[in-house]
Amino acid sequence: AKADGRGTYCFFRDEMARSVEARRILELDLRRALANDEFELYYQPLVNLKTGRITTCEALLRWNHPMRGTVSPIDIIPVAEEMGLIVDLGRWILRRACMECMRWPDGVSVAVNFSSQQFHQRDVIDEVHYALQASGLPAERLEIEITESSLMRNTQWTLDALQQLRSAGVRIALDDFGTGYSSLSYLHNFPLQKVKIDRSFLVGIETHRPLTLLRGVARLSAELGMSVVVEGVETNEQLELIGADGTVTEAQGYLFSRPVPASRIRELLTASHAR
Ligand code: C2E
Ligand code: CA
Ligand code: CA
Ligand code: CA
Repeated sequence: AKADGRGTYCFFRDEMARSVEARRILELDLRRALANDEFELYYQPLVNLKTGRITTCEALLRWNHPMRGTVSPIDIIPVAEEMGLIVDLGRWILRRACMECMRWPDGVSVAVNFSSQQFHQRDVIDEVHYALQASGLPAERLEIEITESSLMRNTQWTLDALQQLRSAGVRIALDDFGTGYSSLSYLHNFPLQKVKIDRSFLVGIETHRPLTLLRGVARLSAELGMSVVVEGVETNEQLELIGADGTVTEAQGYLFSRPVPASRIRELLTASHAR
């Protein structure tokens, strides 16, 4: 038993050393990557269900790592937040996305994800103004996606920031709605223009219950004056079910397109807007 115990201990210690080391390498790597221009934005369309046209493209971060290949944003964002690198990285993402949107047909907007830490920076409003000014993008073509975690802290400050963005003409979307700390009160307490219903609502939608839930949330959001997006639509059956009652305005998911590089999204937009 003693030997086992020691073995286990050694194993843990090695694992910990490895993960601390791995983490340190990742941090150094992230700083280098920003300087070396290894980040890239992919774009995924949101499609209007009535017109079938692309209304918005969401910018999604990718890291082309020289050794590890493509690294997921799920692994990048939390580390960048802890390192304090999210401010620089977020600024790069916002500016790049605004510049790319300028190359798209006039009616198409860009959606940019803001992590909670990025949103709660003191000068977030200036960052947004600067990105719009530097790119020449009209504010009406920028949508900022925040999650419920951004609404949970520092309520008065958050309310002010959202109101300033709204008066500037920028739209705010509540991302991943229905996950985490969902509270219906967020929907009427904050000035939000769009709700993105999380794709977990589509799981088992062919059976009655989740569909009732999704429709309830969609109707409530629509009645509060927000447009409603359903994320993660993968099948025609799901599309028919969510579109049936006319409440859902837009959909996004692999059924329409996976996230694609900038050059490919321009091709998709040209095709969508030529019709
Ligand atoms: P999200 O904002 O909810 O983005 C949607 C995620 O769902 C994307 O994953 C997208 O590729 C994926 N997705 C889209 N359609 C489908 C579908 O039909 N089926 C399935 N299974 N998945 C679908 P991705 O690109 O890996 O991004 C993951 C998360 O990382 C994002 O979730 C967002 O929270 C975060 N993220 C990505 N880019 C950025 C960024 O630029 N800034 C910040 N702060 N976060 C980002
Ligand atoms: Ca998002
Ligand atoms: Ca989402
Ligand atoms: Ca998500």
